[in-house]
Amino acid sequence: MALTPMMQQYFEIKEKHKDCILFFRLGDFYEMFFEDAETASRELELVLTGRDCGMEKRAPMCGIPFHSSEGYVARLVEKGYKVAICEQVEDPSKAKGIVKRDVIKIVTPGTLIDSNLLEDTRNNFIASVYVLEDRFSLSFCDISTGEFLTTSSFNSYFKAIDEMSKFSPAEIILVETKFSLKINLEKLIKSKFNLLINKVDEYSYTEDSLVDFDISNIKEEEKISSGILYSYIKETQKGSLSHVLKVERYDLENYMMLDSTSRKNLELTETIRGKSKKGSLIGALDKTKTPMGGRLLRKWIEEPLVKIDEINLRLEVVEEFIDNLNAAGDFKEFLSGVYDIERITSKISSGAVLPKDMVSLKNSLSLLPDIKESLSMCRSLALTKMHEEFDTLGDIHSLISSSIMDSPSLQIKEGNIIKDGYSIEVDELREAMQKGKQWIMDIESREREETGIKSLKVSYNKVFGYYIEVTKSNLSSVPENRYIRKQTLANCERYITEELKTIEEKVLGAEEKIKVIEYNLYQEIREKVALEIERILKTAKIIATIDVLLSFSEASFENGYVKPIISKDDVIDIKEGRHPVVERVIDGVFVPNCTYLNNASDTISIITGPNMAGKSTYMRQVALITLMAQIGCFVPASSAVIGIVDRIFTRIGASDDLSLGQSTFMVEMAEVSNILTNATRNSLVILDEVGRGTSTYDGLSIAWAVVDYIANSIGCKTLFATHYHELTELEEKIQGVKNYCISVKEHGEDIIFLRKIVPGGADKSYGIQVAKLAGLPDKVIDLSKTILQRLEENDINNKNTQSSKKIEPLKSNKGQLSLFDANSEDKGYEARSIDKENSKDIISKKERDVLKEIENIDIINMTPLDAINYIYKLKEKLKSK
Ligand code: ADP
Ligand code: MG
Repeated sequence: MALTPMMQQYFEIKEKHKDCILFFRLGDFYEMFFEDAETASRELELVLTGRDCGMEKRAPMCGIPFHSSEGYVARLVEKGYKVAICEQVEDPSKAKGIVKRDVIKIVTPGTLIDSNLLEDTRNNFIASVYVLEDRFSLSFCDISTGEFLTTSSFNSYFKAIDEMSKFSPAEIILVETKFSLKINLEKLIKSKFNLLINKVDEYSYTEDSLVDFDISNIKEEEKISSGILYSYIKETQKGSLSHVLKVERYDLENYMMLDSTSRKNLELTETIRGKSKKGSLIGALDKTKTPMGGRLLRKWIEEPLVKIDEINLRLEVVEEFIDNLNAAGDFKEFLSGVYDIERITSKISSGAVLPKDMVSLKNSLSLLPDIKESLSMCRSLALTKMHEEFDTLGDIHSLISSSIMDSPSLQIKEGNIIKDGYSIEVDELREAMQKGKQWIMDIESREREETGIKSLKVSYNKVFGYYIEVTKSNLSSVPENRYIRKQTLANCERYITEELKTIEEKVLGAEEKIKVIEYNLYQEIREKVALEIERILKTAKIIATIDVLLSFSEASFENGYVKPIISKDDVIDIKEGRHPVVERVIDGVFVPNCTYLNNASDTISIITGPNMAGKSTYMRQVALITLMAQIGCFVPASSAVIGIVDRIFTRIGASDDLSLGQSTFMVEMAEVSNILTNATRNSLVILDEVGRGTSTYDGLSIAWAVVDYIANSIGCKTLFATHYHELTELEEKIQGVKNYCISVKEHGEDIIFLRKIVPGGADKSYGIQVAKLAGLPDKVIDLSKTILQRLEENDINNKNTQSSKKIEPLKSNKGQLSLFDANSEDKGYEARSIDKENSKDIISKKERDVLKEIENIDIINMTPLDAINYIYKLKEKLKSK
């Protein structure tokens, strides 16, 4: 059997777009066939039918009406599919043989420009990654705003992934090389991101793929990731990308480095639990008025600065806005009227811009002179510079306001777009249409008079055009010689006349003609504006910057933040600091706390205190205050001196990374290892209960060694919260270590949290009191008190009988502190406080316990890694006999 010609055409096109769902235009429908049809019918809940196409079996098929395709495309793209839109590219009525069809664009998650599918205050990036030996280069593009960035300063996969996570791309191009295959980069990416991965061969890169740009300062490997990315985008858009003005390379050294775990832990842009903006830092700081400002704020929070001058430029503006509330109020009012200029620009460039977008642009532009005027009255350096550079785009404003109606049609091919007075041709045709309508009304009254039929009327419908309608009772008065009968209805007859048809031609002809002319004029105007995109985007950037600084000032004013002093010295000195998010959500009063850190006498704070005392909150607050200062915002404190920090690392809480099949403890250790290898003397490290994920002695040993390593090999400012009270002994042993605890007050048998951090270590855990507060049954509380008492008595007896009363760190060969003598391994841990007399008892009980545990293991539901960890734990348990 031979394929039908249409099916042949289908296969030719599908062959070129194998990785897409092909929307194949047939009349008023987009049809999908074969596998595409099966996927689409499943994902979109469409009825699967079939079509004879010259093959043995009917081809599975499903379809959607073309005019409602947008929603369907959006749903598929959201689910991570790519959709190729194949249109009829010639007029079907004029086609000889089969109508020509071609793919006019490919819609993919990372290349959307339709603002209905995008979140206002979030960029939509597509990323590309290229690896040559151990050198990674990355490129990112948001075609809805025209940003195109590239960088390459990584030597490890982890850093590249961290950088990528900053952009949270919607789609990725993986350039396949020998090296990407060797490290199985695809799998690594999949384990971190849930997104569409396109694999592209490195040889598809050609020298001229970046001809549109000045690439003189772009490094070789960056050219490859950028070139391949740009070619891909061009392929999907098929249209102009004139709003993508430049490939901008950036250096990581210009920003504070934050790895993905630290970002997550500090809840910068979303909360850990609910993934919501509310409850995150950005939630507290976002008062932006424009979508552009919203996106820039996110970027600033993700990329704190490290250069004092740049930070001070921002802080100075925030201060000026706070000091001059009138000016700030004016700006706020003007900015509230500004639409998403950046995204409108991308639509202008691609041709997808609607007349109403042009009106939004015009309305935004009309505010620019006011904004410039307000800028002229500002004093701070950054605002003065913005004033100098501010282009009010008056020419573009007058072009649009003189040419496009204030409430134009929603379509671009239906006329009603061009303003009266802009084009003589349009004006004349409009007049003809107007007149024509008058002529028709004239005909109606004349015919009434001539025939004497009072109810005679002239009407219009799409099938017959204009006609004269006469009711049955008046038929005898119809002048049969002039009237031509067209249609008979139950109670009337419809006629046309020669005259009516001549005028109709003029009226309807004008209407068709004017639609075409208006469409062409509209395209001309669009192209004229497109030539000025660079200027528009420059002004948009200034507006976004003002918006973010204004947002900082508003949040700072509302929440009582102060201007931090940014310092070259290695000090962090915060007086009465608060947590910017927690202070807004707790019921009671937030208790402020001070912090003093430097790189000599006060480098590492060991923070102890019962559960729920506020350790984690305190440490995060120090990290957040530092970060806020470095993005140029005021900070929640009564005063703050912040010596620039190059990186912030945080390891907070224990969470299972199940997607990677890693145990909590493995994750914890991997992250600590990341910190220890990447932190520098100028970093700020926050460690919260490190070592918790394993047995007590293991955990304590690791915690101890980590502090030792940080103190001796890195020397960076560190806050270390721990439940191992033993660590407080380090204060005496290591220079720069200071003990702090969060105070509580005993009140009879209960405790009251004072939330105040004070020098010194906590001596008790108050675990039982906290458990009581949490509502554990009285019986359990009472029993645990008895057990605790017994254990403590045991401990005292022990200490009296054993020679080693304390955990005594020993100097190892390398001269570093170590918790245990390397040779003492076989003897077991000397520091252990086990009553040797009773050890027999304990051993047999332990063995019983272990056996019981083994009996209850749910092996089926364990990963091999879990099993190893589990066996390790059991072994540890047995070893302690
Ligand atoms: P920890 O880490 O010591 O267990 P958290 O930092 O998680 O304690 O704090 C527990 C709770 O205490 C927080 O959720 C918050 O509601 C409250 N809290 C913490 N710090 C303060 C503070 N400085 N002032 C008032 N309440 C606080
Ligand atoms: Mg905690």
